[in-house]
Amino acid sequence: MNPEVLLSRVRVVLCRPSHPGNIGAAARAMKTMGLSRLYLVTPKQFPDAEADTRATGAVDVLRAATVTATLDEALAGTVFAVALSARQRDLGPAIGAPRETVARLLAEAGLGEVALVFGNETVGLSNEEIFHCQAAVTIPTNPDFSSLNLGSAVQVLSYECRMAAFGEKPPVVAPGVTPFVAPPATNDEVEGLYGHLEAVMTATGFYNPEQPGRLLPKLRRLFGRVRLERDEVNILRGVLASTQVRTGHGRKE
Ligand code: SAH
Repeated sequence: MNPEVLLSRVRVVLCRPSHPGNIGAAARAMKTMGLSRLYLVTPKQFPDAEADTRATGAVDVLRAATVTATLDEALAGTVFAVALSARQRDLGPAIGAPRETVARLLAEAGLGEVALVFGNETVGLSNEEIFHCQAAVTIPTNPDFSSLNLGSAVQVLSYECRMAAFGEKPPVVAPGVTPFVAPPATNDEVEGLYGHLEAVMTATGFYNPEQPGRLLPKLRRLFGRVRLERDEVNILRGVLASTQVRTGHGRKE
């Protein structure tokens, strides 16, 4: 299925968020990764100027957010929900790793709407909230400091969703932007450069053909490392030709 369609089926559900700034950060994290469906279960304060500020260019995600009174309402119509928890709970779903669990989440997104469920900043998810989910994820962390900021946790999971939706290879170039491609220089073009370089270095006295030493092989080694492009050979030969004009040595191929 089209990756964008899969991502559009992923809801990010924030349960009882206390800080509007974190709601804004979550919206921004989502939009950078192509997610757009934000659900807020009894947020303490929303809408809020601080949320808008932290969302920056993702205010549209905030405006389109759905506010619900219960987690059940936020999960209505979904076929699979994953709880995000920094710690394992008694009887909760077995804790999985983000990558594997998100792979499952996107497989389920092929069948219907799915959800990532995040907890309150201070107390996390309640057991009751976790029991609404069919899988759970802990983001691996420093064991002595395991609780991420809510917006950061949303960022990590949104990134994993993008990677999974695009088969681990999301395009990095914006659509419509053509990356610069230049044809590589051919062997004869590069040999022409070496000949030209040798002629100029001989004329200036930098290179003495009677005592060649290792200069020419070292220059070949230098240029050989960079896989010269045709344009680059032309630039370098232009530079060489300009020194020949100034010094009146004439051009020797
Ligand atoms: N003090 C809370 C954590 C609150 S952080 C607790 O101990 O549970 C707010 C939310 O971010 C968490 O409820 C969880 O959904 C998510 N989160 C933060 N760190 C996480 C981690 N290491 N793994 C998975 N989710 C995490």
